[in-house]
Amino acid sequence: MAPFVFVPGAKWGKYIPMSLAQPIAALPFSRRGACPSLDEPMRTGDGLLARLRIVGGRLGPEQLKAIAQQARQHGNGLLEITARGNLQVRGLTEQSSRLFARAIMGIVAIETGLVVETPPLGGDDPSEFSDPRPLAEAIRNMAQPFAGLLGPKVTIIVDGGGQISLSGLKADIRLVAVAAGRWHLFVAEGTAEELAFSEALARVSELLQQLAGLGPTARAADLVPPSKQSQAQAGSSPIGDFTLRSSVAAGVALPFGSIAAEDLAALACTAGQMGVTEIRLAPHHGLLAIGAGTAFTQRAAQLGFITTSSDPRTRISACIGSDGCASGHIPARVLAARIAAHLPEKTRLHVSGCAKGCAHPPPADITLVGRADGYGLVIGGKAGDTPRTVLQADQLESSLAAR
Ligand code: SF4
Repeated sequence: MAPFVFVPGAKWGKYIPMSLAQPIAALPFSRRGACPSLDEPMRTGDGLLARLRIVGGRLGPEQLKAIAQQARQHGNGLLEITARGNLQVRGLTEQSSRLFARAIMGIVAIETGLVVETPPLGGDDPSEFSDPRPLAEAIRNMAQPFAGLLGPKVTIIVDGGGQISLSGLKADIRLVAVAAGRWHLFVAEGTAEELAFSEALARVSELLQQLAGLGPTARAADLVPPSKQSQAQAGSSPIGDFTLRSSVAAGVALPFGSIAAEDLAALACTAGQMGVTEIRLAPHHGLLAIGAGTAFTQRAAQLGFITTSSDPRTRISACIGSDGCASGHIPARVLAARIAAHLPEKTRLHVSGCAKGCAHPPPADITLVGRADGYGLVIGGKAGDTPRTVLQADQLESSLAAR
């Protein structure tokens, strides 16, 4: 057996193969660029933000309700589901974040280590080629000894090819089922390699060990020649009704990825009363209630959730803005809700509290940027680009409708 060495980590440290010891020796205790987590929340304009990596993205209505109540008690009462389907709680303080973390550990199991994502209906979806969960689990187990050597943003997607695919999300390594037991493996933006289960596992192991050897800033793009082809495509919406192997699911989304704790708790309560036993977090700010039907969706609409994929809010990104961020000039989400009905079809809008553009870093068809003197209008660009003109509050609806 290869010799192992103990390497101190951010909290406890771990044993790793001697051959991989060199890169980790350079790792600082608190890794820069790390994603916000429950025990290491990130400072934002409205306090600390904690991201909860709930195991499998699956939890019961009572657990969701309890998390919302803790968010109300310890944070500013706002919860988010990110584009990748992670639950986030905002507005924590140094002190309350510790209490919040302790409370959450008593409510739900939190995942750590290498990020390996699977679609929310994985394993229950009659239209998928292969259940992605066994391969995802095998990758997690295989990577355990050296996961701490990998950069915190290194991500693997295992997609069975079903109704809600993760094709809209970027990944360092992507495995997509193309037939029963057959997988296409993509490294960063590279070309597909078709492999069986065991071959895919071996190849991922090889790639992760190469990345670990390159150190914590390495990403899969460092392993392959640059390509103009982007592997990320438009992802499928989690909104609507889905047929599962032995049940159904009702999918809704959080407007602009955010919802008040009271409304999320109320929806969880409704789900529990309707006999829903499981809720799954979904990409594109979604939430799926397994076994739920029309009555659940109707209640979600009353509470302000998005319940149809034609809702213009699905095409708008907006940060918290001045309602919770010290840098914000405008209450971006409030404004976005006001002007949503005026957004032309097939047009993507980004409403940003300031030029930083946190909610949508890439270009959008239209971007409205909060400024001290009004609303910068950027067409086909990013929030930080020079605006074409600066609008005033009473010009926004007409300006959108004219595009
Ligand atoms: S874009 Fe500006 S206002 Fe919005 S969250 Fe980021 S820093 Fe705050």
